[in-house]
Amino acid sequence: MDASPSIIAQMPKLELHVHLESTMDGEQLARYASKQGKQLPRPGNAIYECSAEDLSNFLAFLDMICSMVGSIEDLREVARDFSLRSRQEHILYAEPILNPTHWPQFTVPQLICALEAGFDEGAAEGGTDCRFTLSLSRNQSQAEALDFVNLLCAHRSSRLIGLSIDGNEALTGRTGEKFSPAFRRAKEVGLSITVHAGESSGPEGVRDALDLLFACRLDHGVRAAEDADLTARLVRERIPLNLCLTSNLTLLYRNPEEHPLRRLWDAGAVITLNRDDPTFLGLTLTEELTRCARFAHLTIQDLLQAQYWAVDAAFCSDAEKQQLRSSLHAFAQSLNR
Ligand SMILES: [Zn+2]
Repeated sequence: MDASPSIIAQMPKLELHVHLESTMDGEQLARYASKQGKQLPRPGNAIYECSAEDLSNFLAFLDMICSMVGSIEDLREVARDFSLRSRQEHILYAEPILNPTHWPQFTVPQLICALEAGFDEGAAEGGTDCRFTLSLSRNQSQAEALDFVNLLCAHRSSRLIGLSIDGNEALTGRTGEKFSPAFRRAKEVGLSITVHAGESSGPEGVRDALDLLFACRLDHGVRAAEDADLTARLVRERIPLNLCLTSNLTLLYRNPEEHPLRRLWDAGAVITLNRDDPTFLGLTLTEELTRCARFAHLTIQDLLQAQYWAVDAAFCSDAEKQQLRSSLHAFAQSLNR
């Protein structure tokens, strides 16, 4: 069956690769800025009308918008609003990522408390069930990474489910060895691990993520497609790839035809479909899935399969996964009526 936007909008969805930093809209940012007596560099409604020509540029932009959030209450609202907005387009479950290096105004325990409270509020008001990972940056030191993991251990919460890492590997070079002790520790204490790799790094970054950082899933991972052996390994080991087509077409692939979504799909990779940076890209998940369907000739059944894979890849409990699968089954049956 064709994947029409109206059917995709109704489909129960999951999102595993979305940065909370990129979910604040312009109006919200302008309000937070004025509370601090600050001014946005452009009016709120035009704040995302900028060209982030490369990843470094984009990460600096994220630092700027996060600096507009001056209080823990405002950050709690960011979390709550994400949960409520996500539900409006039938996202049942999401695992947003937050990178504390974009938020130097807050301590890690403050960040955890704010997100926990905000996602609790959202869920209580009927919003999407959200868990979150906190992310290291590739340019941090080994000691900072270990301290960070120890902090997470000391402040475990029901919604904080894992450790991730992002940043620009094209600038930092290979950092797998440097971060391996921190990720080993995270694994030992039962934090789930997801790693940005195979975007600003090539296949070598993906290999390091698996072998040195113990990743059980990959954020992006698309550039693994440059290496047939590695692609075969990802398929064989059922490592989920949290793909973000629109983001990749904005920041990574200048020629859309180079994007390997269809090739990875045909190779049998486990694929989930995500937005990465919703407000920066001006994108709902329904729009992202519609675009993926058109781009890679995916049917509604294919998009539904990607939701089942997202359930498999999610870091929630088996009982919660069973509930999510029930919702997907009900939708699948409604398609046959
Ligand atoms: Zn990302």
